[in-house]
Amino acid sequence: MMEGRRIYEPEHEAFRATVRRFFDAELMPNIAEWEAAGIIPKELWRKAGAAGLLCPTVPEAYGGAGADFRYLCIIDEELGYTGQASFTIQTHTDIVAGYIEALGTEAQKKTWLPRMVKGEVIGAIAMTEPHAGSDLKAIRTTARRDGNDRYVINGSKTFITNGINADLIITVCKTAPELGSKGVSLLLVESDRPGFRRGKRLPKMGMKASDTAELFYDDVVVPAGNLLGQENRGFAQVMSEIPKERLSIATIAMAASQKAFDITVAYVKERVIFGKKLGDFQNTQFKLAEIKTQLAVGWAYLDQCIARHIDGTLTTNDAAMAKLFASELQCRVVDECLQLHGGWGYMSEMPISRMYTDARVRRIAGGSSEVMKMLIARSL
Ligand SMILES: Cc1cc2nc3c(=O)[nH]c(=O)nc-3n(C[C@H](O)[C@H](O)[C@H](O)COP(=O)(O)OP(=O)(O)OC[C@H]3O[C@@H](n4cnc5c(N)ncnc54)[C@H](O)[C@@H]3O)c2cc1C
Repeated sequence: MMEGRRIYEPEHEAFRATVRRFFDAELMPNIAEWEAAGIIPKELWRKAGAAGLLCPTVPEAYGGAGADFRYLCIIDEELGYTGQASFTIQTHTDIVAGYIEALGTEAQKKTWLPRMVKGEVIGAIAMTEPHAGSDLKAIRTTARRDGNDRYVINGSKTFITNGINADLIITVCKTAPELGSKGVSLLLVESDRPGFRRGKRLPKMGMKASDTAELFYDDVVVPAGNLLGQENRGFAQVMSEIPKERLSIATIAMAASQKAFDITVAYVKERVIFGKKLGDFQNTQFKLAEIKTQLAVGWAYLDQCIARHIDGTLTTNDAAMAKLFASELQCRVVDECLQLHGGWGYMSEMPISRMYTDARVRRIAGGSSEVMKMLIARSL
């Protein structure tokens, strides 16, 4: 990873070595097989849990390590640095467990967090619907209060990460449709509830081993105790959690960009064309010099945002700028790096090829680049 960063202590770097060893031993040798299958087996989740890679910030009282936020950043960086993005532990750890940590009742935390730490329960979050992605308040899935003790959910979701593997789905619903964004609530839905159904696994251009799916809710009954946070406060709750989610996307994107750069530097030192090393051409040097500079600037801003998150001052605007910059950078970097690989870069067997197709989603999911610009523009 980028040298000279100051946010990590030696113990974080020791943890980084453990995480890297895990991915090298358990993930990378199998990724081609899992990409072909379109899903990562639940067994890997349990192994990751046993190795301490899931939900490290969960307090010890709920089965976690009570680690500081930087441990979570290390996992995201190392995942990004594998050069593949399909093992979607970020959704499970940073988002789903993060929501339960921040908003859950004592009973919800005790029920779910210890099993999420172990990888026995896999989490997903379902906001997006076929007709409503960027405009979250336009969702149509409803949760009707039925007496005092339960909700009945009806609707459908799409593009849901971990949709096939998930045991627990935070489902964003309208509890008061007439109130628009003030009528949104978050409900915990267990995947074995009658009326809950998974649609097909959606084939994608990249992130092929991650299971992205449609979800259907037909009169799914959940107890009122499954309400996460406050009724009708869901939109504000999502908005308060989203900077952290965007920071983790930016972290993965920076690390993936770094990996693309590092493997390309190695490649151009080996490849010989017109009788000399590809890396000796000025075009190659200038391209890589530009990327190196952009990486250095990107890491510096990312580290500033991580420090702000830790001291509680990270704003929606800061996180939007981090996500916009890092995801746009990732797409530019993988494109330039693939170009330097020539035809070999287009071959699926080459890591840069997978990195190119995996990168594209970063500018869309978790809030598109256009939505980031809208948010940033509001601060002008
Ligand atoms: C691989 C993958 C995984 C995902 N995982 C999840 C998940 O786990 N859970 C979940 O809930 N969702 C998930 N999503 C959905 C993702 O968050 C949405 O795709 C994203 O928010 C964009 O919404 P949309 O697809 O409906 O696009 P639209 O909202 O229809 O946007 C279409 C275009 O319009 C642009 N646009 C939007 N608003 C404006 C505006 N005001 N001005 C100008 N242009 C605008 C967008 O940037 C985009 O270019 C995932 C998506 C993908 C592809």
